[in-house]
Amino acid sequence: MSWHPVIRRGALLLLLYVVVLGLVACAIEGNPGSTPVAQQEVSSNPHALPSATPTLDDPTSTPAPKATLTPTLPPTPTATIEPIATPSPTPWPYVVVIDPGHGGRDLGARRFNDERRMEYHESTVTLEVGLLLRDELESRGFQVVMTREGDYEVAPELRDGGGAGAADFTLIESQARVDLANAAGGDLLLSIHKNAFEYPDGRRGLDVGGIQTYYCADRSFGDDNHRFAVLVHRAVMEAFLDFGYEIQDRGVLQDTYLSAPNSPRRYLILLGPESPRIVRPSQMPGVLSEPLFITHEVEGQMARDPEVLARLAVAYADAIGAFFLGVDPRE
Ligand SMILES: [Zn+2]
Repeated sequence: MSWHPVIRRGALLLLLYVVVLGLVACAIEGNPGSTPVAQQEVSSNPHALPSATPTLDDPTSTPAPKATLTPTLPPTPTATIEPIATPSPTPWPYVVVIDPGHGGRDLGARRFNDERRMEYHESTVTLEVGLLLRDELESRGFQVVMTREGDYEVAPELRDGGGAGAADFTLIESQARVDLANAAGGDLLLSIHKNAFEYPDGRRGLDVGGIQTYYCADRSFGDDNHRFAVLVHRAVMEAFLDFGYEIQDRGVLQDTYLSAPNSPRRYLILLGPESPRIVRPSQMPGVLSEPLFITHEVEGQMARDPEVLARLAVAYADAIGAFFLGVDPRE
C-alpha cells in the first residue's frame, strides 16, 4: 500500500510535532534521574537524618512518542531523548503502618486549663500528627496504612457504642490494630502517643515534660526495634531543637518499663511477643513514641501548634527513611 504524498508529509510533520512536544515536557519536569542526597549524607553521619527520599515515578515525564518513530524517518532528535528517558528512582517497596493512639471513646490523656476545663485530649493530636506523617511518607514514595483515619474505635465489636464498659476494651482495641497491621503486610509500625502527668495530690504537672520512646527487646527483630527507636527518638529531639526547645530526654525504653512494680512484666500489646494476653502479636518491627507531655505548660501548647506538628511528621518520616536505609545510630 502506498500513501498519497500529501498524507505522508502530513504524517511526518505530525510525528515531528509529537517528538518536539515530548522534549518540552521533559524540560519542564526537570531531570528525573537526579540522585537523592539523603543516601550519601546518611552513610557518613548517622545524625544527619535524610530529608529527601527517592521521588515517585512520574508517568508524565516519560517521552511517549518514541514508539511511533520508524526507521524511514529522517534523522530526528531521538538520540537526545535517550538520556532524559532514564526512569525515576523506584518508590520505597515498604508498607509503613501508622497508629494514631486512642480514638473514639478512648480519649487518651487530657489537658486541662486553669479553670479545670478540658482544653483538648490526646487522641485528637495523635491523629493530626498521624495524618501529616501519612502525607509526608506518601510524598516520599512509601505505602502507608493507617490503623485509623478519624475519631473512632478500630475494633468492629467496639464501633457504634459496642463493648461499653468492657474491662478488656483496650486489649480488644489494641489487638484489632495489630491484626490490621499484620493483614496489611506492614514492614514497620509506628504508634504515636502523647504523654501526660498529674501529681498524686491532683495538681497539674505543668513542669513535667520530656520525650520517651518505647520498643520491645524480646522479639526476633528486637535489634531492629531498638535501632528504629533510637532513630525516632533522636529525630524528634532534633525537631524540638529546631524550635529552640531542648526537650528533657527521658530515654529509649523497653516496653516492659511501664509494668507495675512487683508484678509480672507486661509488654505493650502493639509491640510485645505472643502471650496469653497478646494472642496475635505484631509481625513487624515497631516503636511507640511519646514525643511530649500535653500536661506540660510549654509542651502542651506546642502539641497544638500546626508548625510543630508538621515538623514532628517530618522527623518521623526521616527516622523511617533512615531505618530502611539501614542507618545504625549506635546509641
Ligand atoms: Zn497514649
